[in-house]
Amino acid sequence: MNNLKIAELLFPNIELSIDEIFKKYPKRELGNNCQVTRYAPSPTGLMHIGNFFQAFISYNLAKNTNGIFYVRFEDTDSKREIKEAKDVIFQILKEFEIWPDEYQDLDGVDHGEYGPYVQSQRVEIYKAFAKKLVAEGKAFPCFCKKTEGKEDVLRLRESKFEQDDEKEYDPCRDLSYEEVKRHLENKEPFAIRLKTRNDGSQRIKFYDLIKGEIDVKANSKDFILLKNDGIPPYAFAHAIDDTLMGTTIVVRGEEYISSTQMHIELFEDLNFKPIHYCHNPLIWKIDENGNKRKISKRKDPEADMRFYINNGYPKEAVLEYLLNLINSGFETWRKNNPNLSWRDFKFGINDITTIAPVFDIVKLNDISKNIISKLSGEELYFKWLGWAKSFDKSLEEILLKDQKKFIKLCQMDRENSSKPRKDIYNLSMMKDYFDYIFNAPILFEIDDIDKDQANEFLYEYSKQYKCFNSNEEWFNNVKEIAGKMGYAVDNKLYKENPNSFKGNIAKVCEFIRIAITGRKNSPTLFNIMDILGIDEVKKRLNHKF
Ligand code: GLU
Repeated sequence: MNNLKIAELLFPNIELSIDEIFKKYPKRELGNNCQVTRYAPSPTGLMHIGNFFQAFISYNLAKNTNGIFYVRFEDTDSKREIKEAKDVIFQILKEFEIWPDEYQDLDGVDHGEYGPYVQSQRVEIYKAFAKKLVAEGKAFPCFCKKTEGKEDVLRLRESKFEQDDEKEYDPCRDLSYEEVKRHLENKEPFAIRLKTRNDGSQRIKFYDLIKGEIDVKANSKDFILLKNDGIPPYAFAHAIDDTLMGTTIVVRGEEYISSTQMHIELFEDLNFKPIHYCHNPLIWKIDENGNKRKISKRKDPEADMRFYINNGYPKEAVLEYLLNLINSGFETWRKNNPNLSWRDFKFGINDITTIAPVFDIVKLNDISKNIISKLSGEELYFKWLGWAKSFDKSLEEILLKDQKKFIKLCQMDRENSSKPRKDIYNLSMMKDYFDYIFNAPILFEIDDIDKDQANEFLYEYSKQYKCFNSNEEWFNNVKEIAGKMGYAVDNKLYKENPNSFKGNIAKVCEFIRIAITGRKNSPTLFNIMDILGIDEVKKRLNHKF
């Protein structure tokens, strides 16, 4: 009876009953195996690849079972909130085409029947449940001045892996009705804490969908359900939201394992059906010194999902790379199904690897090169142009001015080739990669080249250079000139008798390549020279080494 009265005293304006709340959130009518998953970011910064990984797994678990994937913003920590964070998260989900079925848009409009999908707009609901727990004697008001501080300590603990198993009862757990009343009359702010049933001697088991059975000490702390500003920390808010919104699988980072025992006690006290947790390993990387460490927002640009957009990685490359990390069978599946979309690769919860993934940009770049090599020249050109429009305005202008030339450039060694070049892995690298198209080279890879010989050949060659219609015609002309100047046209002859020639055809092609591009390696020379046009080619051939 006293508890009921205390609850009324604390929450006189909360009239919303638990029954009414449950009526607003009816059980979802979905088939038996349909999963309801969510991405529940705190809008406190950039979108970390680890968070995206969880969102991507959640999206697939829902889509592969005809379920629902929704986004819920966990914005109960207003001090840490960053204004643009929600916008960035939506941009990334849109860009990667893993759009949620339910969410609240940036204008505050809910899309879906289980909203509001933003925690700061659900405070009345949390208070109603807190009131219920107080009325049942499972929670109590705490007037300690340090409440805010304690909450911070608790957050720190939640983020640690090891468990701190001391019992931690709060001094306010047994306040009488009269004492509570007196505190309230003094206008003292209060937090609400769970009155734990445990004393540190109990253990509990729970089943993690990735890690299997986990056996830990049961919670024995009077942890906070509502802070003294009336806002719940993560534990209380997620228990209520995931239950009301009908989540069937919570995919979250493994840093939450160490606080799961708190969440389990909460679910029990709230009479909620237990939820399935799937704790995801963190993403690691091997750093420059060969050490394995967590991929970090501070040190690794690739930890921020905007890195992939800003650098023009094809979205499929990033998603396919992540699928590789989720399930190693993806690689074989891709080999056997080169033309299917990644969406056709169906995986369930049991297919997710238990091994902590190690991020490897070289592997991502390889996947990306492969995907880009399948584009037609025109497709690549328009992707490049689209990227330049957002990230490099002056390049956009150049690409637009000479569209034909740049389409030709993108077609180079790609179309009509049985082995298209696999050398481009993102759009931001293309300008540097093809810098010799934009500007005549300044630096030349000429270290081990006989400069006099090169100058002599290039002088003759430039005098006779004209436009050609095909690589074959172009090559025949090179051979003809080189042959007259004492180079071996036939490689076999050259090998038999190297001393009777100035060199072979490969050597003169190298002279031309270096003069035109500055480099010893490039795509087909005929194409490059065709793109540059006769005047520019002659100018470059006239360069003296
Ligand atoms: N808001 C929590 C976070 O960003 C979400 C954890 C969860 O997915 O339950 O870490």
